[in-house]
Amino acid sequence: MNAGVGARLAPAKINLALHIVGQRADGYHELESLAVFTRFGDRIEAAPAEGDELVVTGKYAAAVPLDDGNLIVRAREALRGCFGIAATPPVRISLEKNLPVASGVGGGSSDAAAALRALLGVWRLSMEEADLARIGLALGADVPMCLAAEPLLARGIGEDLEAVADFPSLGLVLVNPGVAVSTAEAFAGLQKRDNGGLPPLPRVIDFHSLRNWLEATRNDLEPVARTLRPEIGKALAALKRADAGFVRMSGSGATCFGLFETGNVAKRAAATIRARHPDWFVAATRTLPAGGDLHGA
Ligand code: ATP
Repeated sequence: MNAGVGARLAPAKINLALHIVGQRADGYHELESLAVFTRFGDRIEAAPAEGDELVVTGKYAAAVPLDDGNLIVRAREALRGCFGIAATPPVRISLEKNLPVASGVGGGSSDAAAALRALLGVWRLSMEEADLARIGLALGADVPMCLAAEPLLARGIGEDLEAVADFPSLGLVLVNPGVAVSTAEAFAGLQKRDNGGLPPLPRVIDFHSLRNWLEATRNDLEPVARTLRPEIGKALAALKRADAGFVRMSGSGATCFGLFETGNVAKRAAATIRARHPDWFVAATRTLPAGGDLHGA
């Protein structure tokens, strides 16, 4: 795929902290999370075509469903349902799948969010952000936050969003030891569903205040996932050994992240981990700032 022309980033979503605080009557878990998005992610492009097509390339293409199990296809059909067939002619959607699948970094949700925006672009349609978020939420609880793609606090089932202004640019290393954890599997293993909420964020957020704050928070799914997949412990240990300022698992795993003060330090750490674990997914990246900046990424 020509990533330069019109390709849109579908960034990885990283839950820096993830507290599970309850469960609704319909089964959805209630959470409080501080999430950031990264300059590394999938790439999505949409173009007019003779018939609808989904073309998937990239390292993780083989694990991506091509039917209507794919959130991109469901995003296309949701917009069609809103605007009608005449306004939404056939499109070819190209997905470069760089994010490991079922890995806790919200790849499918981020693809859906990027596809919604790419399709509105190719069809020359516009929509209020609130309406787009509603369509996104019907596709998945994490899609609205992926539409925002900036540092944010998420509450409710993940749809109640509060942007976090003045968030520092952080270096990140993402490591996946090559095992998948399904979100359902991780939630099913939770012992307790009413864990405490997040403490208030520091007034001034910089690398050091954020690290101190993170030390007082958790990913409630991490102990469950580590029991299910002991490889996660190895990924966390490798990040620590590479001098990450803070390490944790994202989402329902198995992807883990290490925080670094700058992107360059993160790159060096990633090279060290990659040399020791050539079969793992290892990516050095930086956080997207407030406002998303998806085009510059
Ligand atoms: P989350 O952090 O939101 O729980 P995840 O990163 O753990 O998500 P995904 O990579 O989104 O998980 O994949 C979850 C499932 O979604 C996969 O098993 C796959 O069958 C399905 N799926 C649907 N659309 C996509 C897509 N575009 N890319 C990857 N998986 C998709």
